[in-house]
Amino acid sequence: MKSFWKAFYYDGRTAERHEVEISLSPEALCVKKDGKEALWRLDEVDQTQGFNKGEPVRLEKGGEALIINDAEFVVSLYSMAPAHAARFKRPDRMGRGVLLISLSAFLTIAIGLGVYFWAIPAMVRVATANIPPSVEDRLGRSYVSGLTGMVPQCTSPEIIDSTDRILKKLESAVPGHPYDFKLYVLKNETVNAFAAPGGHIVLLSGLIEATESPEELAGVMAHEMQHVLKKHSTQAIFKDLSTGVLFSFAFGDLQGLSGAVRTMEGLRYGRNLEEEADKKGMELLVRAGIDPEGMVGFFEYLWECECKKEKKDKKASVLEYLSTHPATENRVEYLKKNLGSVSPRNYEPLLPGVDWERVKNSCSGGPPGGKEKQDEEAQKTDEVDT
Ligand SMILES: [Zn+2]
Repeated sequence: MKSFWKAFYYDGRTAERHEVEISLSPEALCVKKDGKEALWRLDEVDQTQGFNKGEPVRLEKGGEALIINDAEFVVSLYSMAPAHAARFKRPDRMGRGVLLISLSAFLTIAIGLGVYFWAIPAMVRVATANIPPSVEDRLGRSYVSGLTGMVPQCTSPEIIDSTDRILKKLESAVPGHPYDFKLYVLKNETVNAFAAPGGHIVLLSGLIEATESPEELAGVMAHEMQHVLKKHSTQAIFKDLSTGVLFSFAFGDLQGLSGAVRTMEGLRYGRNLEEEADKKGMELLVRAGIDPEGMVGFFEYLWECECKKEKKDKKASVLEYLSTHPATENRVEYLKKNLGSVSPRNYEPLLPGVDWERVKNSCSGGPPGGKEKQDEEAQKTDEVDT
């Protein structure tokens, strides 16, 4: 162990730096300058620098200061003057401290990620499985009330009657379910539909107008009903907002909670949940005696729009639906596969005697026209533009 160290001395009156030699004893520091020795009692010395690795150690006594550019100095001081060790900090120990801080920060982040990606989804699954339908109903009602406050509802008796009849028919194929399904038809040209917890299903008039038959609309409705029956929408709300939701929920602030997720896009689900809603939705159609070809046909139509990537208004609004649902090519493929496993039968028309062209346009009051007509119009506009 060293007994002498080179250091720089400042007298506190001038900025002049003096080279000195220092040595240690159990009670004092001996500073040798120009052949003269001065004793600094350790209980009068303060360390003001040298807490981090690589940093010089600065000691002060009154206005005088010593700079020792050697971390080993404090290590020696610990061994030579243990009675005063508590007044001084070892830069090497501080290095370990920094390492520990970094390690604990890393662990905190790792635990946080674990909580976010594993624990919260697991908690959400357990929690949503046990949430009573009455609470889901409140949650869904609150979610939808935000939308109905912003977007006008369609009041066309024909649309309300037709969509209600489709809903009743679908519901008849799920006996004993715990939900009170409610439909909201909102006047908006966006092609979208979504389900809120507890059985609140929102259909935008743009989507209804894009369908060619009640069977196509029933396909979308069956899909959305499955998001409710399988509690996907409840899970989505809880998962997306994770702990914030749990706190809001715990304190009964459902209004505030749903306000945070109100959006015309609806809730987002993972691909697995979308596929489950498609598969179970098709089974529901078959049980209800509704031709599942309609469901496939509608998604095929969406896929065609996606392929064309049209920028015209009507096409762009179709893409809105696609942004919240799985890639339609795969979807059409697996729906067709599911369709193949359903035993073929003759289906009765879903709404016999109903003029669907007229009904579906009765909300917007616009000129009746199927999607072929929209295609033609879009093509015409394209020709003009190009
Ligand atoms: Zn969906």
